Amino acid sequence: MQPVLSLDNVSYAYHNLKSETPALSEISFQVREGEFLAIAGPSGCGKSTLLSIIAGLLKPEKGSLTFGSASTIGYMLQHDHLFEWRTIYQNVILGLELNKAITKENTDYVLQLLKDYGLYSFRDKKPSELSGGMRQRAALIRTMAIKPDLLLLDEPFSALDFQTRLTVSADIGNIIRSTGKTAILITHDLSEAITLADRVLVLSKRPATIKHELPIHFEIDRTSPLAIRATPIYQTYFNLLWKELSDDLSENEIT
Ligand code: ADP
Ligand code: MG
Repeated sequence: MQPVLSLDNVSYAYHNLKSETPALSEISFQVREGEFLAIAGPSGCGKSTLLSIIAGLLKPEKGSLTFGSASTIGYMLQHDHLFEWRTIYQNVILGLELNKAITKENTDYVLQLLKDYGLYSFRDKKPSELSGGMRQRAALIRTMAIKPDLLLLDEPFSALDFQTRLTVSADIGNIIRSTGKTAILITHDLSEAITLADRVLVLSKRPATIKHELPIHFEIDRTSPLAIRATPIYQTYFNLLWKELSDDLSENEIT
C-alpha cells in the first residue's frame, strides 16, 4: 500500500541577515495508513520545524515530501487556542467556517463528536468554563471536524499538569486509535510516545537527524496507560529510547 506520507532527505535551515540556523538534516521516513507515529527529540532540535514542513507552512530547502491519498491535514498545537469570545460549539466549527464547509452533514458530524467526547452538554459554554482536559478535547474536535486524513499533533499535552496529562493523552490516544486516523505526534515525553505510538523516531539534537527508529508492540490493548506502563516490555522500550535521547541532552536538560 502506498504510504500516506514520505519524506525523502528533507533538510531545512532558518536564515537571517547574519547567520544560518540549520534545523533539519536529511530526514527520511514514511508514514503508513492508520499508523500512529511518535517523534521524540531534545528541546529545540527541530521537531516543530519538521511538522511545519509536513503541514506545508515551510518549504524544505532540500529533499522532498510525497503525499499518498492524504489531502486534508489536521494540526493540533500545544496550546488549545480556543477563543474565549466564542462558545465551545462556535470554536469547534471554526475549521469548517474557514474552509467554507458549513453543511448539515458536517455540523451533524461535529454534534456527534461532541457527544462521543462527552462535551455535548458543554457546547454553549465558554472555554474558560471547561477543565484543561476538556479544552484539549474541544481542540481535537475542531481538528477532527474537517475529517483530516493525517493528524499532526505538536506536543498537545505539554501544557497540562502531570495527572491530567496522563488521562488526557490516553483519552485522546484512544479516540485517534479507534477512528483509525493516521497521526504524527511530536513529544519530548518518552512515556507518552511509548504508550501511544506504533513506532517512535528519536531525533538527534539540532540539526535534527533520525537517530533511532523503534517499532512498539504490546500484547495487551492500549486503553489503560497504567497497565501499559506496568509491563516489562514498556520498561525495555523506555530504557532503549532514554539511552538514545540522553546521549543528546545537555546535563541541565536531564530532570
Ligand atoms: P523544537 O520544536 O524541537 O523545540 P523548533 O523546530 O521549534 O524546535 O526549532 C528548531 C531550532 O530552530 C531552534 O534552535 C530554534 O531556535 C530555531 N528556530 C525556530 N523557528 C525559527 C525562526 N522562525 N527563525 C529562526 N530560528 C528559528
Ligand atoms: Mg516545538
